[in-house]
Amino acid sequence: MPPTCFHHARVITGDGRTVVQDAGILVDADGLISAIGPRTALRVPAGARRVDLGGRTVMPTIINPHGHLGYLRDATVSKDNHSRANVLDHLHRLAYYGVSVFQPLGTDRDDVEITLRDTQRSGPPADPGLPSLFTAGTGLVAPTPGEINGGPYFATDVVHEVAVPAGARATVRALARKRPDAIKFWVDDRRGTRNKPAPEVYAAIIEEAHRLGFLAVARIFELDDAKGVLRAGVDGIAHMVRSPGPDAELIELLQGDTVFACTSMGIQRTAYDDSGWLDEPAVAETVSAAARAEVRARIAALSPADVAAAEASYAVLEEGLRAYVAGGVRVLLSADTGARTQFFGIAEHREVESMVRAGMPVLQAIRSATELPAEVLGLPDRGTLAPGKRADLLVLDADPRDDIAHTRAISAVYFAGRALDRARLRERWTDGT
Ligand SMILES: [Zn+2]
Repeated sequence: MPPTCFHHARVITGDGRTVVQDAGILVDADGLISAIGPRTALRVPAGARRVDLGGRTVMPTIINPHGHLGYLRDATVSKDNHSRANVLDHLHRLAYYGVSVFQPLGTDRDDVEITLRDTQRSGPPADPGLPSLFTAGTGLVAPTPGEINGGPYFATDVVHEVAVPAGARATVRALARKRPDAIKFWVDDRRGTRNKPAPEVYAAIIEEAHRLGFLAVARIFELDDAKGVLRAGVDGIAHMVRSPGPDAELIELLQGDTVFACTSMGIQRTAYDDSGWLDEPAVAETVSAAARAEVRARIAALSPADVAAAEASYAVLEEGLRAYVAGGVRVLLSADTGARTQFFGIAEHREVESMVRAGMPVLQAIRSATELPAEVLGLPDRGTLAPGKRADLLVLDADPRDDIAHTRAISAVYFAGRALDRARLRERWTDGT
Protein backbone atom coordinates (compact mmCIF):
# COMPACT_ATOMS: atom_id res chain seq x y z
CA MET A 1 0.00 0.00 0.00
CA PRO A 2 1.49 3.39 -0.97
CA PRO A 3 1.43 6.17 1.65
CA THR A 4 -2.03 7.72 1.69
CA CYS A 5 -3.30 11.18 2.50
CA PHE A 6 -6.90 11.23 3.68
CA HIS A 7 -7.95 14.83 3.34
CA HIS A 8 -10.92 17.19 3.48
CA ALA A 9 -12.23 15.82 6.79
CA ARG A 10 -13.16 16.90 10.28
CA VAL A 11 -11.26 14.68 12.70
CA ILE A 12 -12.43 13.74 16.19
CA THR A 13 -9.19 12.33 17.57
CA GLY A 14 -10.73 10.29 20.41
CA ASP A 15 -8.81 11.95 23.24
CA GLY A 16 -11.99 13.50 24.62
CA ARG A 17 -11.07 17.05 23.64
CA THR A 18 -9.64 17.51 20.18
CA VAL A 19 -11.45 18.14 16.89
CA VAL A 20 -9.35 19.17 13.90
CA GLN A 21 -11.20 21.05 11.17
CA ASP A 22 -10.29 20.73 7.47
CA ALA A 23 -7.80 18.07 8.43
CA GLY A 24 -5.60 15.62 6.64
CA ILE A 25 -4.34 12.27 7.92
CA LEU A 26 -1.13 10.90 6.44
CA VAL A 27 -0.86 7.13 6.61
CA ASP A 28 2.36 5.26 5.87
CA ALA A 29 2.83 2.02 3.94
CA ASP A 30 2.35 0.00 7.15
CA GLY A 31 -1.05 1.54 7.88
CA LEU A 32 0.21 3.76 10.69
CA ILE A 33 -0.59 7.46 10.97
CA SER A 34 2.56 9.49 10.27
CA ALA A 35 1.01 12.95 10.57
CA ILE A 36 -2.32 14.53 11.26
CA GLY A 37 -3.35 18.17 11.27
CA PRO A 38 -4.95 21.02 9.38
CA ARG A 39 -4.61 20.42 5.63
CA THR A 40 -2.46 23.50 5.13
CA ALA A 41 0.10 22.32 7.68
CA LEU A 42 0.62 18.82 6.22
CA ARG A 43 3.53 17.92 3.95
CA VAL A 44 2.22 15.25 1.64
CA PRO A 45 5.03 13.07 0.22
CA ALA A 46 5.31 12.85 -3.55
CA GLY A 47 3.57 9.76 -4.90
CA ALA A 48 1.11 9.55 -2.01
CA ARG A 49 -2.36 8.29 -2.83
CA ARG A 50 -5.04 10.85 -2.04
CA VAL A 51 -8.43 10.02 -0.60
CA ASP A 52 -10.89 12.92 -0.51
CA LEU A 53 -13.28 12.41 2.41
CA GLY A 54 -15.60 15.11 1.10
CA GLY A 55 -15.94 17.11 4.32
CA ARG A 56 -17.05 14.09 6.32
CA THR A 57 -16.25 13.46 9.99
CA VAL A 58 -13.67 10.88 11.02
CA MET A 59 -13.38 9.28 14.45
CA PRO A 60 -11.36 6.29 15.64
CA THR A 61 -13.01 2.89 15.21
CA ILE A 62 -14.77 1.52 18.28
CA ILE A 63 -13.22 -0.80 20.88
CA ASN A 64 -15.71 -2.85 22.88
CA PRO A 65 -14.30 -4.74 25.86
CA HIS A 66 -17.54 -6.57 26.74
CA GLY A 67 -19.65 -8.89 24.63
CA HIS A 68 -20.42 -12.56 23.92
CA LEU A 69 -19.53 -14.14 20.59
CA GLY A 70 -21.23 -16.99 18.82
CA TYR A 71 -24.61 -17.30 20.55
CA LEU A 72 -26.90 -14.82 18.79
CA ARG A 73 -28.66 -15.75 15.58
CA ASP A 74 -31.51 -13.63 14.29
CA ALA A 75 -33.20 -12.60 17.54
CA THR A 76 -32.34 -15.72 19.55
CA VAL A 77 -29.45 -16.28 21.93
CA SER A 78 -28.67 -19.94 22.55
CA LYS A 79 -25.79 -22.34 22.86
CA ASP A 80 -27.36 -24.23 19.96
CA ASN A 81 -26.38 -21.33 17.71
CA HIS A 82 -22.74 -21.49 18.73
CA SER A 83 -20.15 -22.43 16.13
CA ARG A 84 -16.85 -21.17 14.83
CA ALA A 85 -18.66 -19.99 11.69
CA ASN A 86 -21.13 -17.98 13.78
CA VAL A 87 -18.28 -16.45 15.78
CA LEU A 88 -16.61 -15.38 12.53
CA ASP A 89 -19.89 -14.00 11.20
CA HIS A 90 -20.23 -11.91 14.36
CA LEU A 91 -16.72 -10.57 13.93
CA HIS A 92 -17.50 -9.56 10.34
CA ARG A 93 -20.62 -7.72 11.52
CA LEU A 94 -18.57 -5.84 14.09
CA ALA A 95 -16.07 -4.81 11.44
CA TYR A 96 -18.88 -3.71 9.16
CA TYR A 97 -20.00 -1.14 11.74
CA GLY A 98 -16.49 0.00 12.55
CA VAL A 99 -15.69 -2.02 15.68
CA SER A 100 -12.00 -2.86 15.41
CA VAL A 101 -11.33 -4.57 18.74
CA PHE A 102 -13.73 -6.84 20.60
CA GLN A 103 -13.48 -8.76 23.84
CA PRO A 104 -15.98 -11.46 24.76
CA LEU A 105 -16.19 -11.82 28.52
CA GLY A 106 -16.09 -15.32 29.84
CA THR A 107 -18.33 -17.42 27.59
CA ASP A 108 -15.93 -19.05 25.13
CA ARG A 109 -17.01 -22.50 23.98
CA ASP A 110 -14.70 -25.24 22.66
CA ASP A 111 -11.83 -22.71 22.80
CA VAL A 112 -13.07 -21.13 19.56
CA GLU A 113 -12.19 -17.61 20.76
CA ILE A 114 -8.85 -18.54 22.30
CA THR A 115 -7.81 -20.41 19.13
CA LEU A 116 -8.86 -17.60 16.79
CA ARG A 117 -7.12 -15.03 18.95
CA ASP A 118 -3.92 -17.06 19.11
CA THR A 119 -3.93 -17.45 15.33
CA GLN A 120 -4.45 -13.71 14.91
CA ARG A 121 -1.57 -12.92 17.22
CA SER A 122 0.82 -15.48 15.78
CA GLY A 123 1.52 -13.63 12.55
CA PRO A 124 0.23 -11.34 9.84
CA PRO A 125 -3.57 -11.57 9.77
CA ALA A 126 -5.10 -14.00 7.29
CA ASP A 127 -8.06 -11.60 7.11
CA PRO A 128 -7.05 -7.98 7.84
CA GLY A 129 -10.75 -7.07 7.74
CA LEU A 130 -11.51 -8.83 11.03
CA PRO A 131 -11.49 -6.98 14.35
CA SER A 132 -8.67 -7.82 16.75
CA LEU A 133 -10.04 -10.45 19.08
CA PHE A 134 -9.42 -10.39 22.82
CA THR A 135 -11.04 -12.94 25.08
CA ALA A 136 -11.56 -13.70 28.74
CA GLY A 137 -11.93 -17.37 27.83
CA THR A 138 -14.36 -18.94 30.27
CA GLY A 139 -15.26 -17.35 33.59
CA LEU A 140 -16.04 -18.39 37.17
CA VAL A 141 -19.32 -18.56 39.00
CA ALA A 142 -20.69 -19.92 42.30
CA PRO A 143 -22.53 -23.25 42.18
CA THR A 144 -26.19 -23.33 43.19
CA PRO A 145 -26.79 -26.86 44.54
CA GLY A 146 -29.70 -28.57 42.82
CA GLU A 147 -29.97 -25.74 40.30
CA ILE A 148 -28.23 -24.41 37.23
CA ASN A 149 -25.57 -21.88 38.23
CA GLY A 150 -25.96 -18.10 37.97
CA GLY A 151 -23.75 -17.70 34.89
CA PRO A 152 -25.22 -16.28 31.69
CA TYR A 153 -28.11 -18.52 30.64
CA PHE A 154 -26.57 -19.44 27.29
CA ALA A 155 -23.28 -20.48 28.85
CA THR A 156 -24.03 -22.00 32.27
CA ASP A 157 -22.41 -25.20 31.00
CA VAL A 158 -19.06 -23.63 30.03
CA VAL A 159 -18.41 -21.43 33.07
CA HIS A 160 -16.55 -22.94 36.03
CA GLU A 161 -18.24 -23.42 39.38
CA VAL A 162 -16.09 -22.52 42.37
CA ALA A 163 -17.29 -22.83 45.98
CA VAL A 164 -14.20 -22.30 48.13
CA PRO A 165 -11.07 -20.12 47.87
CA ALA A 166 -8.74 -23.06 47.15
CA GLY A 167 -10.95 -24.21 44.27
CA ALA A 168 -11.12 -20.67 42.92
CA ARG A 169 -7.34 -20.39 42.90
CA ALA A 170 -6.90 -23.77 41.23
CA THR A 171 -9.44 -22.84 38.54
CA VAL A 172 -7.75 -19.51 37.84
CA ARG A 173 -4.41 -21.32 37.50
CA ALA A 174 -5.96 -23.79 35.04
CA LEU A 175 -7.55 -20.98 33.02
CA ALA A 176 -4.27 -19.07 33.00
CA ARG A 177 -2.64 -21.76 30.88
CA LYS A 178 -4.62 -20.48 27.89
CA ARG A 179 -3.46 -16.92 28.55
CA PRO A 180 -6.89 -15.23 28.53
CA ASP A 181 -6.90 -11.42 28.31
CA ALA A 182 -8.87 -11.20 31.54
CA ILE A 183 -10.36 -13.41 34.24
CA LYS A 184 -14.13 -12.91 34.44
CA PHE A 185 -16.37 -13.86 37.34
CA TRP A 186 -20.04 -13.36 38.14
CA VAL A 187 -21.31 -11.94 41.44
CA ASP A 188 -25.04 -11.82 40.87
CA ASP A 189 -27.76 -13.79 42.65
CA ARG A 190 -30.11 -13.31 39.68
CA ARG A 191 -32.75 -11.65 41.82
CA GLY A 192 -32.39 -14.03 44.70
CA THR A 193 -32.60 -17.24 42.67
CA ARG A 194 -28.92 -18.25 42.55
CA ASN A 195 -25.87 -18.31 44.79
CA LYS A 196 -23.14 -15.78 44.33
CA PRO A 197 -19.54 -16.31 45.37
CA ALA A 198 -18.70 -15.39 48.96
CA PRO A 199 -16.30 -12.45 49.41
CA GLU A 200 -13.43 -14.78 50.35
CA VAL A 201 -13.99 -16.74 47.12
CA TYR A 202 -13.92 -13.72 44.82
CA ALA A 203 -11.00 -12.29 46.77
CA ALA A 204 -9.12 -15.52 45.95
CA ILE A 205 -10.06 -15.22 42.26
CA ILE A 206 -8.79 -11.64 42.09
CA GLU A 207 -5.61 -12.34 44.04
CA GLU A 208 -4.69 -15.39 41.97
CA ALA A 209 -5.45 -13.54 38.71
CA HIS A 210 -3.19 -10.69 39.75
CA ARG A 211 -0.45 -13.01 40.98
CA LEU A 212 -0.38 -14.54 37.49
CA GLY A 213 -0.54 -11.17 35.73
CA PHE A 214 -4.17 -11.07 34.58
CA LEU A 215 -6.87 -8.44 34.87
CA ALA A 216 -9.88 -9.45 36.95
CA VAL A 217 -13.31 -8.28 35.79
CA ALA A 218 -16.55 -8.85 37.70
CA ARG A 219 -20.16 -8.86 36.76
CA ILE A 220 -22.03 -7.24 39.62
CA PHE A 221 -25.61 -6.08 40.05
CA GLU A 222 -25.84 -4.78 43.62
CA LEU A 223 -24.05 -1.77 45.05
CA ASP A 224 -22.65 -3.74 48.01
CA ASP A 225 -21.14 -6.37 45.72
CA ALA A 226 -19.54 -3.69 43.56
CA LYS A 227 -17.92 -2.21 46.64
CA GLY A 228 -16.88 -5.67 47.79
CA VAL A 229 -15.08 -6.62 44.56
CA LEU A 230 -13.45 -3.18 44.35
CA ARG A 231 -12.18 -3.42 47.92
CA ALA A 232 -10.82 -6.85 47.02
CA GLY A 233 -8.86 -5.22 44.18
CA VAL A 234 -10.89 -6.00 41.05
CA ASP A 235 -9.73 -4.12 37.94
CA GLY A 236 -13.12 -3.47 36.41
CA ILE A 237 -16.83 -3.95 36.84
CA ALA A 238 -18.64 -5.13 33.72
CA HIS A 239 -21.97 -3.47 34.49
CA MET A 240 -23.25 -0.45 36.35
CA VAL A 241 -24.77 -1.01 39.77
CA ARG A 242 -28.53 -1.23 39.70
CA SER A 243 -29.65 -2.07 43.19
CA PRO A 244 -29.39 0.71 44.26
CA GLY A 245 -27.36 3.12 42.09
CA PRO A 246 -23.88 4.41 42.99
CA ASP A 247 -23.23 6.30 46.21
CA ALA A 248 -20.30 8.53 47.17
CA GLU A 249 -18.33 5.58 48.57
CA LEU A 250 -18.57 3.64 45.30
CA ILE A 251 -17.46 6.67 43.31
CA GLU A 252 -14.47 6.99 45.60
CA LEU A 253 -13.59 3.31 45.12
CA LEU A 254 -13.83 3.77 41.34
CA GLN A 255 -11.65 6.86 41.13
CA GLY A 256 -8.15 6.73 39.71
CA ASP A 257 -6.54 5.15 36.69
CA THR A 258 -6.23 1.64 38.06
CA VAL A 259 -9.90 0.67 37.86
CA PHE A 260 -12.64 1.04 35.29
CA ALA A 261 -16.41 0.86 35.12
CA CYS A 262 -18.29 -0.52 32.11
CA THR A 263 -21.58 0.99 30.99
CA SER A 264 -23.75 -1.87 29.64
CA MET A 265 -26.72 0.50 29.49
CA GLY A 266 -28.15 -0.13 26.04
CA ILE A 267 -29.01 -3.74 26.84
CA GLN A 268 -31.44 -2.48 29.47
CA ARG A 269 -32.92 0.15 27.16
CA THR A 270 -33.50 -2.31 24.34
CA ALA A 271 -35.82 -4.25 26.62
CA TYR A 272 -38.54 -1.63 26.46
CA ASP A 273 -37.39 1.09 24.12
CA ASP A 274 -39.44 2.55 21.37
CA SER A 275 -38.76 0.13 18.56
CA GLY A 276 -38.18 2.85 15.95
CA TRP A 277 -34.46 2.12 15.89
CA LEU A 278 -35.23 -1.23 14.27
CA ASP A 279 -36.39 0.61 11.15
CA GLU A 280 -33.11 2.39 10.62
CA PRO A 281 -31.49 1.49 7.29
CA ALA A 282 -28.19 0.80 9.08
CA VAL A 283 -29.89 -1.89 11.17
CA ALA A 284 -31.71 -3.46 8.24
CA GLU A 285 -28.36 -3.91 6.49
CA THR A 286 -27.44 -6.80 8.76
CA VAL A 287 -30.54 -7.83 10.73
CA SER A 288 -33.23 -9.77 8.90
CA ALA A 289 -36.79 -8.47 8.67
CA ALA A 290 -37.98 -11.50 10.65
CA ALA A 291 -35.55 -10.84 13.49
CA ARG A 292 -36.57 -7.18 13.62
CA ALA A 293 -40.24 -8.15 13.66
CA GLU A 294 -39.60 -10.52 16.53
CA VAL A 295 -37.91 -7.85 18.64
CA ARG A 296 -40.73 -5.44 17.87
CA ALA A 297 -43.29 -8.04 18.94
CA ARG A 298 -41.45 -8.63 22.22
CA ILE A 299 -41.45 -4.91 22.98
CA ALA A 300 -45.13 -4.64 22.05
CA ALA A 301 -46.00 -7.56 24.36
CA LEU A 302 -44.72 -5.77 27.46
CA SER A 303 -47.36 -4.70 29.93
CA PRO A 304 -47.48 -1.06 31.08
CA ALA A 305 -46.17 -2.28 34.45
CA ASP A 306 -43.19 -4.01 32.77
CA VAL A 307 -42.39 -0.84 30.86
CA ALA A 308 -42.68 1.33 33.97
CA ALA A 309 -40.35 -1.01 35.89
CA ALA A 310 -37.84 -1.05 33.03
CA GLU A 311 -37.93 2.73 32.77
CA ALA A 312 -37.38 3.11 36.50
CA SER A 313 -34.39 0.79 36.51
CA TYR A 314 -32.99 2.49 33.41
CA ALA A 315 -33.23 5.86 35.18
CA VAL A 316 -30.93 4.40 37.88
CA LEU A 317 -28.34 3.67 35.18
CA GLU A 318 -28.55 7.15 33.70
CA GLU A 319 -28.19 8.77 37.08
CA GLY A 320 -25.30 6.42 37.84
CA LEU A 321 -23.48 7.40 34.67
CA ARG A 322 -23.85 11.08 35.54
CA ALA A 323 -22.36 10.35 38.97
CA TYR A 324 -19.45 8.52 37.30
CA VAL A 325 -18.81 11.42 34.94
CA ALA A 326 -19.00 13.99 37.73
CA GLY A 327 -16.65 11.85 39.83
CA GLY A 328 -14.05 11.47 37.09
CA VAL A 329 -14.45 7.66 36.91
CA ARG A 330 -12.74 5.87 34.00
CA VAL A 331 -15.88 4.85 32.11
CA LEU A 332 -15.64 2.28 29.29
CA LEU A 333 -18.24 1.66 26.65
CA SER A 334 -19.53 -1.86 27.10
CA ALA A 335 -22.33 -3.04 24.88
CA ASP A 336 -22.78 -6.62 26.18
CA THR A 337 -23.08 -7.36 22.47
CA GLY A 338 -24.43 -10.76 21.52
CA ALA A 339 -26.61 -11.09 24.63
CA ARG A 340 -30.38 -10.61 24.32
CA THR A 341 -30.88 -8.53 21.16
CA GLN A 342 -27.62 -6.66 21.32
CA PHE A 343 -26.93 -6.98 17.61
CA PHE A 344 -23.29 -7.02 16.60
CA GLY A 345 -21.99 -3.60 15.67
CA ILE A 346 -25.34 -1.94 16.23
CA ALA A 347 -25.27 -2.40 20.00
CA GLU A 348 -21.96 -0.51 20.18
CA HIS A 349 -23.40 2.54 18.42
CA ARG A 350 -26.54 2.45 20.51
CA GLU A 351 -24.40 2.28 23.63
CA VAL A 352 -22.57 5.50 22.74
CA GLU A 353 -25.98 7.02 22.12
CA SER A 354 -27.26 5.80 25.50
CA MET A 355 -24.28 7.40 27.22
CA VAL A 356 -24.82 10.75 25.52
CA ARG A 357 -28.56 10.71 26.14
CA ALA A 358 -27.81 10.16 29.82
CA GLY A 359 -25.82 13.39 29.81
CA MET A 360 -22.24 12.39 28.99
CA PRO A 361 -20.56 14.97 26.72
CA VAL A 362 -20.17 13.61 23.16
CA LEU A 363 -16.38 13.78 22.97
CA GLN A 364 -16.08 12.04 26.34
CA ALA A 365 -18.47 9.29 25.27
CA ILE A 366 -16.40 8.75 22.12
CA ARG A 367 -13.25 8.58 24.24
CA SER A 368 -14.96 5.89 26.36
CA ALA A 369 -15.47 3.94 23.14
CA THR A 370 -11.94 4.43 21.80
CA GLU A 371 -8.97 5.71 23.81
CA LEU A 372 -9.94 4.39 27.24
CA PRO A 373 -10.69 0.78 26.25
CA ALA A 374 -7.46 0.75 24.20
CA GLU A 375 -5.63 1.79 27.35
CA VAL A 376 -7.29 -0.92 29.47
CA LEU A 377 -6.63 -3.63 26.88
CA GLY A 378 -3.00 -2.55 26.61
CA LEU A 379 -3.10 -1.42 22.98
CA PRO A 380 -0.74 1.55 22.72
CA ASP A 381 -1.20 1.88 18.94
CA ARG A 382 -5.02 2.05 19.03
CA GLY A 383 -7.83 4.20 20.30
CA THR A 384 -6.93 7.67 19.08
CA LEU A 385 -6.01 9.27 15.78
CA ALA A 386 -2.48 10.55 16.31
CA PRO A 387 0.99 9.98 14.84
CA GLY A 388 2.21 6.43 15.48
CA LYS A 389 -1.30 4.99 15.87
CA ARG A 390 -2.93 2.54 13.49
CA ALA A 391 -5.09 4.27 10.90
CA ASP A 392 -8.36 2.69 12.08
CA LEU A 393 -10.87 5.19 10.76
CA LEU A 394 -14.63 5.39 11.08
CA VAL A 395 -15.79 7.85 8.41
CA LEU A 396 -19.21 9.39 9.08
CA ASP A 397 -21.58 11.28 6.80
CA ALA A 398 -22.47 13.70 9.59
CA ASP A 399 -20.94 15.06 12.78
CA PRO A 400 -21.88 13.11 15.93
CA ARG A 401 -21.55 16.31 17.94
CA ASP A 402 -24.77 17.48 16.26
CA ASP A 403 -26.59 14.22 16.93
CA ILE A 404 -24.93 11.19 18.47
CA ALA A 405 -26.99 8.91 16.20
CA HIS A 406 -24.66 10.10 13.42
CA THR A 407 -22.05 7.56 14.51
CA ARG A 408 -24.32 5.12 12.65
CA ALA A 409 -24.22 7.19 9.43
CA ILE A 410 -21.18 5.24 8.30
CA SER A 411 -19.61 6.16 4.99
CA ALA A 412 -16.50 3.98 5.23
CA VAL A 413 -14.40 1.93 7.64
CA TYR A 414 -10.61 1.63 7.40
CA PHE A 415 -8.50 -0.85 9.35
CA ALA A 416 -4.79 0.06 9.25
CA GLY A 417 -5.49 2.41 6.37
CA ARG A 418 -7.25 -0.20 4.22
CA ALA A 419 -10.88 0.26 3.30
CA LEU A 420 -13.23 -2.50 4.29
CA ASP A 421 -15.32 -3.71 1.36
CA ARG A 422 -18.61 -2.99 3.11
CA ALA A 423 -20.74 -3.58 0.00
CA ARG A 424 -19.34 -7.07 -0.34
CA LEU A 425 -19.80 -7.79 3.36
CA ARG A 426 -23.41 -6.60 3.15
CA GLU A 427 -24.16 -9.28 0.56
CA ARG A 428 -23.62 -11.91 3.27
CA TRP A 429 -26.60 -10.64 5.21
CA THR A 430 -28.97 -9.41 2.55
CA ASP A 431 -28.80 -12.35 0.15
CA GLY A 432 -32.20 -13.86 -0.44
CA THR A 433 -34.11 -11.62 1.98
ZN1 LIG B 1 -21.98 -9.80 29.42
